[in-house]
Amino acid sequence: MKKVYLDYGSTTPVDKEVLEEMMPYFSKHYGNASSIHSFGRDAFDAIENAREQVASVIKSRYEEIIFTSGGTESDNLAIKGVAYKNKDKRGTKGNHIITCAIEHPGALEPCKHLEKQGFNVKYLPVDKYGLVNPDDLEEAISENTFLVTIMFANNEIGTVEPMQDLGKITKKHNILFHTDAVQAVTKEPIDVKKLNIDLLSLSSHKIYGPKGIGALYIRRGLKLEPIAHGGGHEKGLRSSTYNTPGIVGLGKACEIAQKRYEKDTSYMKFLRDLLIKNLLEIEESYLNGHPEKRLVNNAHLRFSAIEGESLNLMLDDKGIAAATGSACSSKKLQASHVLLSIGLKPEEAHGSLRLTLGKYTTKEEIEYVSEVVPGIVKNLRKMSPLWNR
Ligand code: PLP
Repeated sequence: MKKVYLDYGSTTPVDKEVLEEMMPYFSKHYGNASSIHSFGRDAFDAIENAREQVASVIKSRYEEIIFTSGGTESDNLAIKGVAYKNKDKRGTKGNHIITCAIEHPGALEPCKHLEKQGFNVKYLPVDKYGLVNPDDLEEAISENTFLVTIMFANNEIGTVEPMQDLGKITKKHNILFHTDAVQAVTKEPIDVKKLNIDLLSLSSHKIYGPKGIGALYIRRGLKLEPIAHGGGHEKGLRSSTYNTPGIVGLGKACEIAQKRYEKDTSYMKFLRDLLIKNLLEIEESYLNGHPEKRLVNNAHLRFSAIEGESLNLMLDDKGIAAATGSACSSKKLQASHVLLSIGLKPEEAHGSLRLTLGKYTTKEEIEYVSEVVPGIVKNLRKMSPLWNR
């Protein structure tokens, strides 16, 4: 059976060149990067090279990158690390964090956790496209605000937030700005200095690197409290023996993506637009997220009177891998908080489908999906009590 993977927003395959680069670090250069002998030095050098490669993708300095286990850990370290460092200033001052309603759980849950510990969190609303309004941010800032954490691009509907405007506001008020850029890195141009970003989370498995490795950019001079204590790796911020093969893989993935940026992003955009155009020909189908300010690989559609889970299962029967809810929680059957936040009713949220493309997606695959989806939607509607035409 034909197999079409359109779930690159959940995870990507590891690039062949990435895997080749990683292999020697499993059983040849296996030294502990903290050891002073030659085995350790080999690993250390490879890690420092990867640090440069990661820094280059977001235009930071290499010493501003620390390695973590992924996007979730980077978000946790950024948000809790800043909050705990700020704890001494708490009381009436410095206990206010601003985030937005459609964050990934990786950022949302640490904020909720901090609320239980007495921090005050403001969840900014978004408009029907999922955009945060910079005026809302400006208005929400109080003298107690010390951190703003707003995602670069949404993992479900693909909306890209107005980073430049948000960064100007946080800078003006001298407030730290963290962004979860897990979905945006390598798909959007990112310059942390120009955008006034103080902390940025990224993850390897969304960019053709291995799973279980990520990074956090921390602007030089910024102090965080570690969330795990131990041997003092990564300037004491992230103790644990280095995952050298993973780090090397992440670095290589960044290097490849940077070289191919123009080619890959324009290619995915072309296929994305073709897919959206084809699927919007289905009666009562709608695009979720912003029509232009969206990730180059994201097509998120909604079909009235159908159930996205059934659609997903039927697509799977045809060899097509897609997603309905968020990447990390698509096994949950609650309506997505993102879709509810953009004003969809629960039944509309449940009738949504996320198709995320990658650099390996072909035009032929897009044509196949464009042929298969209308038939499935039609069949599901025949069985739907909500479809009475
Ligand atoms: N943030 C966003 C926006 C994501 O899409 C994801 C994964 O889907 C994460 C964070 C979590 O990243 P990781 O799986 O590396 O922990």
